[in-house]
Amino acid sequence: MAHGVCVITEFRGGAFRRVSLEVASEGRRLADALGEPLTAIALGDGVAAAAAALGQYGVEKVYAVDQPRLKDYLAETYVPAVAEILQTLQPKVVLAAASVDGKDLSARLAARLGAGLAQDCTELKIEGGALQAKRPVYAGKDLAWYAWADGAFPQMASCRPNVMDCLMPDSSKQAAVETPAVTLPAETRTRVVSVEAAAGKVDLAEAQIIVSGGRGMKGPEHFAIIEELAQILGGAVGASRAAVDAGWRPHADQVGQTGKVVTPTLYIACGISGAIQHLAGMGSSKFIVAVNKDPDAPIFSKADYGVVEDLFQFVPAFIEEVKKLKAAC
Ligand SMILES: Cc1cc2nc3c(=O)[nH]c(=O)nc-3n(C[C@H](O)[C@H](O)[C@H](O)COP(=O)(O)OP(=O)(O)OC[C@H]3O[C@@H](n4cnc5c(N)ncnc54)[C@H](O)[C@@H]3O)c2cc1C
Repeated sequence: MAHGVCVITEFRGGAFRRVSLEVASEGRRLADALGEPLTAIALGDGVAAAAAALGQYGVEKVYAVDQPRLKDYLAETYVPAVAEILQTLQPKVVLAAASVDGKDLSARLAARLGAGLAQDCTELKIEGGALQAKRPVYAGKDLAWYAWADGAFPQMASCRPNVMDCLMPDSSKQAAVETPAVTLPAETRTRVVSVEAAAGKVDLAEAQIIVSGGRGMKGPEHFAIIEELAQILGGAVGASRAAVDAGWRPHADQVGQTGKVVTPTLYIACGISGAIQHLAGMGSSKFIVAVNKDPDAPIFSKADYGVVEDLFQFVPAFIEEVKKLKAAC
């Protein structure tokens, strides 16, 4: 019989990603609501030694598969390994991160296990002993609650990064770690050749602060002020599709329906009109600041703070003020 909550974690560069700690924390809340245990599945190279620390976020037991072949996410190795553990565990609820890898993995797992999956959820709750999930629909124009058919387990959901609150880590707690033997395919049709992470750059999907530029930047060279502002605020640079299509920024920077969905604490949009497809990617940011010289730009209807100003005047002046403030601290 299905029992408990299980979270699938992401282990990269020798550490669990922050979003996995958010998912573990949410898993703890759901497990408490069910009165059932919380377990985790952790795959990676060197993950077994790090796994016990998930106990700080409420995980009771971690099933760790520690193999050099699992250093990078590859559907062909991760899906059978995680599926095998889930088939043994039979959890009631399975949570993953709605990251690029997490969404790929959970969709494939759901198909393999014949499970229902709600992707990119912004809120989860237990009602009558079963999971319910809230997620944006129609490119973020609306939010819908989902429930699973009675008796259909596992109930799977992926959690949007930066939305679920992370528990305060309790360093007195350690999770038990078990290293199950799982069967990985002897050969795979694909392999990871290299992973190119931009050195020193904050990951857009997990950034707490994002400064984005649009067509109003007028050219790639002017993104220097966006980069400078992002850098002094400790944030990441984003862009509208217009800026990406013009070749001013790489596609990895694109925020929106056909780019990344981001949920930072602070999103500063400079020279971006606020098309529905852009709002779909950043509309659930906690605080939105819009800088646009057109007072009727649609972005202002979503913004918490609006600056009707030429961005080439405002952004450099704002940078100077932030510098002064930082120097005074
Ligand atoms: C299927 C589909 C998917 C899409 N996916 C995405 C997506 O993922 N992401 C995305 O962003 N778009 C997406 N789009 C495109 C979207 O519809 C818009 O065309 C795009 O977001 C516009 O980008 P923008 O706001 O930078 O440009 P514009 O709409 O041209 O706006 C530029 C803004 O800059 C302001 N401005 C100009 N000069 C200055 C200045 N000196 N100071 C201050 N303000 C200034 C202007 O007033 C204007 O509001 C998609 C479209 C489709 C059809």
